[in-house]
Amino acid sequence: MTAGSQPYKFRTTMYTIVKTAILGGGLTGVTLARFLAGKGEEIAVLEGEPAIGGLCRSRQDAGFCFDTGGSHIIFSRDEEVLRFMQSVLQENRAVRKRNTKIFYKGGYVKYPFENGLSGLPAEDRYFCLNEYIKTLIASEKGELPPVKNFRDWIYATFGRGIAECYLVPYNTKIWNYPPERMSAHWVEGRVPRPPVEDVIRSALGIETEGYTHQAVFSYPQQGGIEALVRAIAAPVMDRVTCGFQISHIRKSSSGWEISDGDRTVQAEKLISTIPLQHLIPALEGVPERVRQAVASLRYNSVCSVFIGIQAKVPDISWLYVPSLEIGLMNRVSFPSNFSSGVAPEGCSSVLTEITYNEGDPLTRMSEREIITHVIDSLTTMDLIRNEDVVYTGIAKHRFAYVVYDLDYLANVKIVREYCEAIGIDLVGRFARFEYLNMDACIRDVLDYTGRAA
Ligand SMILES: Cc1cc2nc3c(=O)[nH]c(=O)nc-3n(C[C@H](O)[C@H](O)[C@H](O)COP(=O)(O)OP(=O)(O)OC[C@H]3O[C@@H](n4cnc5c(N)ncnc54)[C@H](O)[C@@H]3O)c2cc1C
Repeated sequence: MTAGSQPYKFRTTMYTIVKTAILGGGLTGVTLARFLAGKGEEIAVLEGEPAIGGLCRSRQDAGFCFDTGGSHIIFSRDEEVLRFMQSVLQENRAVRKRNTKIFYKGGYVKYPFENGLSGLPAEDRYFCLNEYIKTLIASEKGELPPVKNFRDWIYATFGRGIAECYLVPYNTKIWNYPPERMSAHWVEGRVPRPPVEDVIRSALGIETEGYTHQAVFSYPQQGGIEALVRAIAAPVMDRVTCGFQISHIRKSSSGWEISDGDRTVQAEKLISTIPLQHLIPALEGVPERVRQAVASLRYNSVCSVFIGIQAKVPDISWLYVPSLEIGLMNRVSFPSNFSSGVAPEGCSSVLTEITYNEGDPLTRMSEREIITHVIDSLTTMDLIRNEDVVYTGIAKHRFAYVVYDLDYLANVKIVREYCEAIGIDLVGRFARFEYLNMDACIRDVLDYTGRAA
């Protein structure tokens, strides 16, 4: 990927000229293409993989359909974006009521945890409620220490009980990074902050609902989450080139030259939706401090393990697994509960997610070892029986989660300012390097194309 010390020779034999090049054909890239083409702009999407979709790809095999970038559902607080996602899918949409749990000490606790306190053993319920109330009182009296990191925020918001029983172990597992080394700037609106009455009600066993904008969600009836990306991309597929792994980019007299080492595309304008870790090394003449800032940005990879069984699964949408003792996975989803079209007749499906980084024990395990580990965990949890397994599979995505470490804000600022100065627009999850869900990526596109109009 690196531009190297020798100047790279851009080939002029296989040369295409467009007005706007969109780097990356994930959800953000194809949504940009659709909206810009709709405004009559001449665009080309350059996607490195053989297929579009990025994190929103789905694998269809043996009658099963699994999302490769971890289990995805369609939900949003953003009415306009939600309507857009629903409308492109037309009839290909199943609607479900969320029934999400946390696997805690061998039983199920309703999600979010603070809305499920009545499901805890009595001692833990007391610990969580008592510490929550003590924290509220300390907060009212102005006695809480200042919040310096994500861990402090958890303790200051939920108290020591909820923090230690669930939020700290779960977040340590999913981020694969200590919460005390993460920034707290991003949590509002993402980690649900419940009304006080709800926590007390839930501890007393009165039903409450948290995170309500997700309480009802939809999912493509056929084709997994990739069906959403395909539906968005349908009007512009003729402008997408797959298998174009961008390796070199340079400014030219008329704009930009972009190469995959074989072909060159010339564009007046460049919009990047690819990870900064791919964009910056492809560019010529990037200052060292910008390269350093990109190298310091933290992210997680995800390993998705697919299990098909000839049996039923519990009526649960997905299950969080905070305990490391149970296994490496942080979440278990049941796609066949999202749609009746993703598993063969008489079968059900289970998708588990493990976040990891290069060098972790998982990277030294073979695919077979990972699958066996997951099956063992699922049988320990009594979710499946080994003899019912009829299908297994695995997929890994290197760029899955942005990790907001304590240096994040300083590093991302350096990179964004540099891209802005040289005239590259950044849109989407790993281009802006923000924790954006699908709806936020589409919102980013709407805001961007509105601005560009
Ligand atoms: C485990 C997990 C679960 C999730 N669940 C949900 C959910 O339930 N609901 C929800 O709304 N969101 C969910 N998300 C978030 C959602 O996946 C993202 O918001 C969305 O996929 C980001 O799209 P993107 O196009 O910005 O990025 P990406 O999907 O990363 O797309 C980037 C594209 O650029 C391409 N690319 C990279 N480098 C190059 C290169 N050098 N040359 C050419 N092409 C390149 C990639 O191949 C890829 O296609 C989840 C994410 C994860 C990790």
